[in-house]
Amino acid sequence: MRRPILTANWKMHKTRAQAAAFVTVLREQLGHTTEVDVVIAAPFTSLAAVHEGLLGSEIALAAQNVCAEAEGAFTGEISPAMLADAGCHYCIVGHSERRALYGEQDAEISRKAAALLGVGIRPIVCVGETLEEREADRTADIVASQLAGSLTDVETAAIGELVVAYEPVWAIGTGHTATPEQAQEVHLLIRARLRERFGASGADIRIQYGGSVKPENVVAIMAQPDIDGALVGGASLAPDSFAKIVRYESQENRAT
Ligand code: PEP
Repeated sequence: MRRPILTANWKMHKTRAQAAAFVTVLREQLGHTTEVDVVIAAPFTSLAAVHEGLLGSEIALAAQNVCAEAEGAFTGEISPAMLADAGCHYCIVGHSERRALYGEQDAEISRKAAALLGVGIRPIVCVGETLEEREADRTADIVASQLAGSLTDVETAAIGELVVAYEPVWAIGTGHTATPEQAQEVHLLIRARLRERFGASGADIRIQYGGSVKPENVVAIMAQPDIDGALVGGASLAPDSFAKIVRYESQENRAT
């Protein structure tokens, strides 16, 4: 049984005070959420504030990036052990913005994922095609290739801790959500590749969808059989909007 996982990706937003205020309101709105995993991926500078605000709750803390190296002369970088020390239980790796803007390649993403697993942090490994690639009918090839390359260093024994996020680049921050059927088609493909790579237990790996998820579309997206969660950017910046997404199963949300 794959437990749903809803992740807020704040990207480069929020000061420490804004982050703390968000957490206070989110906790008030969610109460004790036990049916789904809720994760907040905060900027490095807000990790401590969010960690403190989350004490005593089941909401998990995530970082948005990490260095694959353990320690040393890597100015400006943050190691997996530092993230663990800061209270992170998850970390996004290979987000399309890091691939496109900072030249991150599959091999490096794979090393980051393995390094995170080595310190007990669950990597959320992102894959997804651009609009150009989709229009050229290359979605399946691109996603399969990114997935294989980004998981090369991940050992089968660790896959219980692995999360994959399918994020079509054309749907991120654009308001153009993939239809639930388009997303399901790619999730099914990812599921098949995970089984090939890791054997039958590959079917247990959770796959999140990301790309303009909001309260209005989350119910239809989460209804797809191979979609196990959402990675949410813009709509995660306000606590009430993210709380609605987390409570996607509630009647109130179905009515919106
Ligand atoms: C993201 O940040 O991964 C994302 C999917 O952003 P948005 O929800 O704004 O499209």
